[in-house]
Amino acid sequence: PFDVLIVGGGPAGAAAAVYAARKGIRTGVVAQRFGGQVNDTLAIENYISVLETDGPKFAAALEAQVRHYGVDLINGQSAAALLPPEAVGGYVGVRLDNGATLRARSVILATGARWRNLNVPGEAEYKNRGVAYCPHCDGPLFKGKRVAVIGGGNSGVEAAIDLAGIVQHVTLLEYAEQLKADAVLVDKLRSLPNVTVLTQAQTLEVQGDGQRVTGLRYRDRASGAEHTIALEGVFVQIGLVPNTEWLDGVIERNRFGEIVVDAKGHTSVPGVFAAGDCTTVPYKQIVIAAGEGAKAALSAFDYLIRTPVP
Ligand code: FAD
Repeated sequence: PFDVLIVGGGPAGAAAAVYAARKGIRTGVVAQRFGGQVNDTLAIENYISVLETDGPKFAAALEAQVRHYGVDLINGQSAAALLPPEAVGGYVGVRLDNGATLRARSVILATGARWRNLNVPGEAEYKNRGVAYCPHCDGPLFKGKRVAVIGGGNSGVEAAIDLAGIVQHVTLLEYAEQLKADAVLVDKLRSLPNVTVLTQAQTLEVQGDGQRVTGLRYRDRASGAEHTIALEGVFVQIGLVPNTEWLDGVIERNRFGEIVVDAKGHTSVPGVFAAGDCTTVPYKQIVIAAGEGAKAALSAFDYLIRTPVP
């Protein structure tokens, strides 16, 4: 059995593994795909002290550092169920898809999240070639260009306001009749000179020239007419879904499915900690996930030295 078992191998899980292993305790990581969302990222320009890197390079560096400390890395395996300890200090079980159960005195959940996709033609094809999901990450790549933001909830409207300060023009498309964001954000958005808001607009296709995005085709649901907008970027903002379905009923989550954590990364189950995009911690970013992972590992270590085995 492990002292600490980490579920997830993104920036949060990798940071937790490094911090735990450096305490000299038996540390394991089980990950569906080591590296996590970073694998799908082209340029990373906001990881502090690293001027610029790319996703695959960053993921390889995470893995090298985790392996350097002799962490047991179980890659390509998914956790299917969490078995809480029978008593405080007892073993926590993590059952894998393949039927095996790993046991650990403490567990750190770092299963991250995934952006909800539009599922229209061109979206997957032009991902990272004009189709983007994270304005904090990719906004500056579209400086002076024309972009669309799909989604009129809080994240879409915030993204449009943020992007309007960087790009030449933003078109916000919302499927419903009205924007769903808070009124104060909608007012702010409507005050901006370089933003067009389209409601009842159903995105049909992301268009491109084979290399990059060149436009977006949508249907005006009021008139039924189809239109095309010429642009260079499309930000999809229709939701970020935490990978926590497998924890249903076992651990406290909020209405978005995020694992509820306190400032030290404790969850509702003793001995189980959580970090990164799968939690309630705001702002889903690599540097934040890494910091939270480090914190969760230190909390797990603190728990181990204070909690006797029953
Ligand atoms: P993730 O990176 O999502 O990692 C989750 C890990 O858990 C993965 O290893 C996954 O395989 C594993 N996992 C999930 N479910 C299970 C399970 N049931 N069992 C076992 N393992 C499981 N952030 C920035 O700071 N800068 C950027 O430039 C940037 N660009 C981005 C570009 C794109 C296209 C995307 C999608 C995201 C970008 N982000 C960026 C956001 C950043 O990638 C995330 O905030 C960060 O990766 C979160 O780290 P995490 O460890 O919490 O989760």
